Parts: sequence; structure tokens; C-alpha cells
Amino acid sequence: MNKNDIIRLEIVDMTSDGSGVGKADSMVVFVPDTAVGDICDVRILKVKKNVCYGKIENIIEKSADRVDPVCPVSSRCGGCVYRHMSYEAELKVKHKKVFDAVTRIGKVDGSKVKEIIGAYDTQVDRYRNKAQIPVGLSKNGEVELGFYSRHSHRIAPCDDCLLSPVIFTQITKDFKEFLQKYPYLIYNEEKHSGKIRHLYLRIGEKTDEVMVCVVVNGKSFDHQDELFNSIKEKYKQVKSIVINVNKAKTNVILGYENITVYGKESITDELCGLKFELSPLAFYQVNRTQAQRLYEKAKEYAQLSGDEVLIDLYCGTGTIGLSMAKSCKELIGVEIIDKAIENAKVNAKNNGIENARFICGDAEKAAVELEKNGIKPDVIIVDPPRKGLTPDLINTIVQMNPQRVVYVSCDPATLGRDLKLFEEFEYSVKEITPFDLFPRTAHCESVCWLSR
Ligand code: SAH
Repeated sequence: MNKNDIIRLEIVDMTSDGSGVGKADSMVVFVPDTAVGDICDVRILKVKKNVCYGKIENIIEKSADRVDPVCPVSSRCGGCVYRHMSYEAELKVKHKKVFDAVTRIGKVDGSKVKEIIGAYDTQVDRYRNKAQIPVGLSKNGEVELGFYSRHSHRIAPCDDCLLSPVIFTQITKDFKEFLQKYPYLIYNEEKHSGKIRHLYLRIGEKTDEVMVCVVVNGKSFDHQDELFNSIKEKYKQVKSIVINVNKAKTNVILGYENITVYGKESITDELCGLKFELSPLAFYQVNRTQAQRLYEKAKEYAQLSGDEVLIDLYCGTGTIGLSMAKSCKELIGVEIIDKAIENAKVNAKNNGIENARFICGDAEKAAVELEKNGIKPDVIIVDPPRKGLTPDLINTIVQMNPQRVVYVSCDPATLGRDLKLFEEFEYSVKEITPFDLFPRTAHCESVCWLSR
């Protein structure tokens, strides 16, 4: 097989990042924007030892899962990978991804994997409560706002992201018009010149409060009053306008310093009946409705009666643990980011929760300390990043001997790997429920109940 060859291919499977998979001779071919059952002519773009990558030239026969993508930029923008498939088909792919990982890697009995909890029909689109929109100038000098294309730092212009609420689209349009008036303000990544880097928007879904944050290479920019005055007059939901200062030559979006130029420093939202403060840097699940359903399932799996000591490892701003605090005796949260721990403490206080304490530190080390100090948790919740848990941490958890472990996972493969270790230590998987927190994108979460 050579670059630029055109081959006819049947798509027979999907990868975990949402690409279709076909087989030609002894080669595996990955083709984005395809679905199982598609027969298509594919142009080969890149050839490696046993695999190659291609793109659709022509669809000869359409998969039954296909729908017309409703987003004009979906094949260019890096966000959605399942726009060309029905949501039903997407959920099947996601369920299979979790099922395969935990049964093959984790050796878990397949009957433990429950149906995937998909988003409600009305929430398959426009579910995000946060958007970070890069701004730039095209080669022809046109102002571009959108999202980075797959694996790149090129902006795929997008005027209306279907994952974001309508008010984000409206504010983005006004922001773009402002930049069209003063294009010299736009930050240039290569030259590290100019001022405005990103538009960052957040909404408290329950409260309808909106935060407009502009990420600036500096502490202010020319004509900012003109922009901010018009935004606050036009959108009564905007309760906070912030400049986030990021002078670093980096592709990390946010800097550490925030200057509130209008209204409050943070907006408020409600999750599981509790109030949470969303400051620009605070982590918060982007899909509130689905996060709430996931936390409810985690609570069901924790089986709390009111007497338990509960440890919430990788607690972020405390959301999962706090949503269960009133149903246990004591809550201990652990998180590595100090700012998140500060938020967690404030969140506990604002909700009148007095049986919670939060420790800033590495989960593995903090767990060893807690164990040494004789803490005997009844339930441990873990919600690690994609890389999952370390064998040492699993070992410490086992030493602490909780009745139940609730594992919230954003990566089925590392979940499978970790479950295998837990099962070697007298913990058995009672149930796993996959959750779709990110419809249309490749990500998939799951919650697992382990019992001693
Ligand atoms: N449970 C929270 C956050 C989950 S995201 C929620 O549902 O909102 C995972 C969290 O793990 C992040 O907040 C991240 O900062 C934290 N984290 C990453 N590595 C860590 C480590 N080694 N020790 C403790 N926390 C860590």
C-alpha cells in the first residue's frame, strides 16, 4: 500500500477515538467519519508498518447507522467524531468500548456491564456549560474564532458549536464583530505578539448565570470598555466579566491571575441539590445533567447508611463526595491541585457541610498517610484522570480494607487494567454502568461498584 492509493474498503469496527476500521490485505486501515457497514473508496494518507490512515473519497454503500451531519464543520473541528452517526448507534459503540475493555483486559464477567446511560433526547446537543474558543487571523487576514482541528493548532472556524448553548453563539458573534473592528488586538502564537488569546465562556445551567472571560496576553486591552459595556447591557444573564492574564509563551489556555472587570468573581451553579462556585480556574463537569446522573449512580453504589467514613480520592472541587456527605458520618477528600482544594472547602462551607475535610496532595501518598493514621474508611471513591490508578495505590486501598470501592473512570482501558488487580485482591466487580457525558465526542465514562 502506498500514499495516495485509492482502495475500496468495508468498515468493520470502530476505534476508541471514534475512527472507523477496515482491513485491506494484511493492513488495518483507520478512516475517520465512517461507520460500521460503510463501503467506501478511501484515499491512503499515511502508511506505517501494519496500519495505515486514510480519508473517504466516496461512499459507495452507506451504513445503516449513518445520518447527515448537521454541523458544517464537524469533519474539520477536533470535537465531535460521531456527527455522521445516529445517537443510538453512537451509544452502542460507546457501550461496546467499555464492555470490551473490562471483559478483555479486566476479565470481568460481561453480565456485570449494565446498559449505557445516554443523554436525554433534548440534551444530545448544546449540553456543554463551558467553551474555550481560540481567536486568530487566517492567512487572508480574516478574524477566526472556532476550535482547533484534530491533532493541530489550526483553527477550524465555527460560528455556532452545536455542543454549546445558544447564548455562547450570540456572545461569540459579538466578540467576533469587535475583533473585526480591531484585528490588531488578536494574539499571534508564533510571534507572541498581540493581546487577545481566547474567549472563555461558562454558564450555570440551573441558575442561568453566565461568565465571560477573555484570556489576554497582558492585564487589559484597547477598547475593552466598549466590548464589556455592550455585553453587560445586551445580556442580563452575564453576571461576571473577567480578564484572565496569560503572558506565557505556551499553549496552556489559562494563566493564574484573574481580574474581575464587572460583577462577581465567580458564577454559581447547582448540582445534586448543592451550590457550587465556578471561578475561571475551578474544575466543573461540562455536562451537568449527565454528571448529576452519574453521581447519583455512584451514590447508589456507595450504599451509605449514615455511619460510614468515606474517602473521595481525586476529588477536584469536592463535588462527588459533597453530594454524599449528608448520607455518611465523615468525608475526606484528596486532590493534588491546591486551588481545587480551596474551592472544595468553600463549597462545603457554602452548603453547610461540616463533616468534610480536604487534603491537598498526591492520592497515592495521601492514602498511605491516612492508612498510617489509622483511618478506616468504609467506602472509597476514586475518580482518576485517564491514566487510572497505580498498583501502589490499589495496594494501599486494599490495605485500608473498605467494604466498597466506587471507581469512576474516564478511560475504559485503564479501568479494565485496574479492575483486574482489584479482583486479585478479594474485591469483586458487582456492577459497571457506562455513562455518556460527552455525546458526539469520543469520550466515555463509567462507574464501577467493587465489593470486598
Ligand atoms: N472528582 C472530581 C474531579 C475528577 S477529575 C469531579 O467529578 O469533579 C480528576 C482529578 O484528579 C482532577 O481534579 C486532578 O487535578 C486530580 N488529580 C490528578 N492527579 C492526581 C494525583 N496524583 N493525586 C490527586 N489528585 C490528582
